[in-house]
Amino acid sequence: MDLIDLRSDTLTQPTDSMRQAMAEAKVGDDVFGEDPTINKLEAVSAKKLGKEAALFVPSGTMGNLISVLTHCGRGDEILLGDRSHIFLNEVGGISALGGVHPHIVPNNSDGTLPLDLLEKAIRHEELHYPPTRLICLENTHNYCQGNPLTPAYMQEVGALARKHSLKIHLDGARIFNAAIALDVDVSTLAKDADSVIFCLSKGLSAPVGSLVCGTGPFIQTARKMRKMVGGGMRQAGHLAAAGLVSLECLVERLQEDHQNAQELASGLTAIKAIDLDRENVKTNILFFRVNHPKIQPDNFLKRLEAEGIKILLIEPGVFRAVVHRNISREQIRHTVEVAKKHLGE
Ligand SMILES: *Cc1c(COP(=O)(O)O)cnc(C)c1O
Repeated sequence: MDLIDLRSDTLTQPTDSMRQAMAEAKVGDDVFGEDPTINKLEAVSAKKLGKEAALFVPSGTMGNLISVLTHCGRGDEILLGDRSHIFLNEVGGISALGGVHPHIVPNNSDGTLPLDLLEKAIRHEELHYPPTRLICLENTHNYCQGNPLTPAYMQEVGALARKHSLKIHLDGARIFNAAIALDVDVSTLAKDADSVIFCLSKGLSAPVGSLVCGTGPFIQTARKMRKMVGGGMRQAGHLAAAGLVSLECLVERLQEDHQNAQELASGLTAIKAIDLDRENVKTNILFFRVNHPKIQPDNFLKRLEAEGIKILLIEPGVFRAVVHRNISREQIRHTVEVAKKHLGE
């Protein structure tokens, strides 16, 4: 059996139709705004997200950075979750490069931020305080079991932001997973956000690329910020071509990943030594612990690897498995069997 690589959905390989579209793409110099394939991807993305305009960027990390730089100046403060990707996994770029001050609010286990704590964190005008400008949310929430935030929650945060004249940025790296899981249109989830990014390079299987979406003027400034951080690309339509295939052909099938994640969750939950909150597996991401008298977490990891299965030990004792297009139902069943073999029933 092939390697079963559950470390991340970024490991997805491009499809044959993507490779063909990439080879045949009409391209131009995108810094001059002359790459027809990128222009098309940006237009299609903006329309899907229900925003006026969009910007193609090399990564989700750059998309988040550019968005924060566009909303905030040096010394401004943003509110974001203590489990958020921007806070944990983006090398502190907003502070290092933007001089933006992160104010952390503890995430609920479902990825939401408690509204009362969020409101309490907003600064009033006072000599000693940095001005609060922006609330950042994440959907689906990677480090909260890939949980999707609902339109109702987005609306509540939207009302709070409007009340205090704040903007909302949505890190929607996996917003299409959220839309599929909740059976709502992706634009409904983006509606209350002033800016939103999403990734083509995860479950959507493109090799590279993310989009920033927002108002026309916002994207105009974001384009300048992209140039500033070195993200202005030239004949990158070859990459955008893959992204167009993602949006046209690979969104609906995310459902399969979610079903496979359910299968994996139910198989693993049946193993006594595995502690997994099955009820809260809603998309393609599972977190679990292993409590075995003889097998330590890193030993379990090694045993799986020896059997051709890779998962991530994301923090001491906590494993993450991410289901994606290159993981079949049969491989899911095999993974459960191997886990059982080592941990017992
Ligand atoms: C992957 C991810 C990003 C950024 O992705 P890169 O393209 O790897 O920079 C941002 N936010 C979340 C929630 C992610 O999972």
